[in-house]
Amino acid sequence: MANCLFCRIINREIPGSIVYEDDRIVAFNDINPQAPVHVLVIPRRHIESLNALTSGDDGIVGEMVRRGAAIAKEKGVSDSGFRTVFNTNAAAGQTVFHIHLHVLGGRTFTWPPG
Ligand code: 5GP
Ligand code: ZN
Repeated sequence: MANCLFCRIINREIPGSIVYEDDRIVAFNDINPQAPVHVLVIPRRHIESLNALTSGDDGIVGEMVRRGAAIAKEKGVSDSGFRTVFNTNAAAGQTVFHIHLHVLGGRTFTWPPG
């Protein structure tokens, strides 16, 4: 998608601080981190949000979640604990409409979330 910010990061049209990539997934540091560790895990394939998922996407979503957990471990926050979030549409605060898993760690989080 030409006008999608995250597709442009994947295609190296704009810079991203990439921490992991393979042929299906890319992960990069959030530009406005909300915790000492704040990584976004995204599929290379453009999917707008959780609302657009089909059964054919089960594999990629599983890979995103497992990769998020692996990155948390690499960053040293898996034992202390980390927060994983998919924001979907306006009320949840989704601002970029290319599905992304937030992986946040390195501080204590409250519940319920804001
Ligand atoms: P959302 O609000 O859609 O769940 O999350 C979008 C995230 O993308 C936000 O946390 C925001 O800081 C991050 N973001 C927005 N623009 C950029 C950018 O150009 N580069 C990076 N690395 N992150 C961005
Ligand atoms: Zn996209």
